Amino acid sequence: MGDTIFGKIIRREIPADIVYENDEILAFRDVNPQAPVHVLFIPKRPLATLNEAGPDDAGLLGRLLLACADYAKQEGFAEQGYRTVINCNEHGGQTVFHLHVHLLAGRPLHWPPG
Ligand code: AMP
Repeated sequence: MGDTIFGKIIRREIPADIVYENDEILAFRDVNPQAPVHVLFIPKRPLATLNEAGPDDAGLLGRLLLACADYAKQEGFAEQGYRTVINCNEHGGQTVFHLHVHLLAGRPLHWPPG
């Protein structure tokens, strides 16, 4: 896949408000937050979209979601609730083609989305 702005964040070429990091995952605050808490969890190994994920990525995808839940517990909003979202391609509203999980919290979130 081509490089994206998230690749530049991983390589520390542009700044980001990083809230969590391990060997394979980076999480940072969304620059255009849609809720009081809006954090993006990304794999350091780039996958453009969820469509590019295969069986070998099952563990990574699970660990991305577990990182979201761990962060919610650590920050104290897990019981109140939150939403995780992966947008895929045009109809999903994806704009950055480096797979990412949005973690949204801090206010009631409407459903269904528009
Ligand atoms: P998506 O539309 O699902 O591809 O989400 C991309 C998200 O990346 C949007 O919510 C943007 O606000 C966010 N975003 C774009 N550039 C940056 C950046 N440099 N730092 C943090 N978040 C960003």
